[in-house]
Amino acid sequence: MKVVVCVKQIAVLGDEVEFTEDERDVDPDFLDYALNEWDSYATEEALQLVERAGEGEVVVVSVGDEDSEDALRRALAMGAGRGIRVWSPELAGADPITVARVLAEVVRGESADLVLCGVQSSDSVQAATGIALAELLELPRVAVVTKVSLGDGTATVHRELEGGLVDVVEVDTPCVLTIQTGINEPRYATLRAIKQAEQKEIEVREPGDLGEPASRVRRMFVPPKGEGAEMLDGSPAEVARRIKELVEERLK
Ligand code: AMP
Repeated sequence: MKVVVCVKQIAVLGDEVEFTEDERDVDPDFLDYALNEWDSYATEEALQLVERAGEGEVVVVSVGDEDSEDALRRALAMGAGRGIRVWSPELAGADPITVARVLAEVVRGESADLVLCGVQSSDSVQAATGIALAELLELPRVAVVTKVSLGDGTATVHRELEGGLVDVVEVDTPCVLTIQTGINEPRYATLRAIKQAEQKEIEVREPGDLGEPASRVRRMFVPPKGEGAEMLDGSPAEVARRIKELVEERLK
C-alpha cells in the first residue's frame, strides 16, 4: 500500500512583523519555520495505516525551497520512507491552485492508494490545496477527517461537522482526505530517527507548466487599530438596555 502525504513547511510569525519592500509578504527575517501541525497528524495517520496494513510505503511531498526540506526531514524522521521536493523560484508565494497543480503532477506519478493533506496550513489558512488536488486528480475527497478505516477498495472515514457532529462516509479509494488535528497522537521523532532521516533520500524536482495563477497577493498589512470600543458589564438586562441606547444613538 502506498500513501502520499503532502506536507508544508509553514512560517511562524514572531512578536514583531515587518513587510517586504513590495508589501506583498512578511520580511523573512521576522519568521520562524516549522512542519505544519495538520501535516504532522496526516503523516502519523499514513504511518499507522501502513503499519496496520502490514506492508507499504509513505511518501511525503512538499512544494518549497531548499529550507523547506526541514519539514520533509521531520516527516522522514517520523518514519516516512521517501521525500520529494518540487521547486522553482516562480513558485514563491504561489496560490493554492498552483501548488495543487504541482502536487498533482507528483501524485500522478506515484499510483498512490491514498493521498493525505492537512485540513489547512497555519500560515496561509486557505484550506483549499487538498480539495483542489482532488479535483485535478479527478479523485473523490473528504474534508476535515477525524478517523480512517481502510477496506477493500473503499475507506470509511469520519468527517467533522459544525457543532461537533460527525458524518460517517464511505468513499472509494484512491481518494484524497484532508486530515484534522487530534485524529491521532503524532509520534516524537527520536534523536536517532532524526539522524537517520538525514540519510534518507529527498528527490528534488522542477515543476512542469504552472498555468495561470488563480490569485495574486496585492498587499499585506496589519489592519489599523479600531477605536471607541466599550466593554459592557452588568446583568443581561442591563447590557441589553445599553446596547439599545447605543444603537439608538448611532441611528440619530
Ligand atoms: P492550505 O490550502 O494552504 O490551507 O493547505 C492545506 C494542506 O495542503 C496542507 O495541510 C498541506 O497538506 C497541503 N499543502 C499546502 N501547501 C503545500 C505545499 N507548499 N507543499 C505541500 N503540501 C502543501
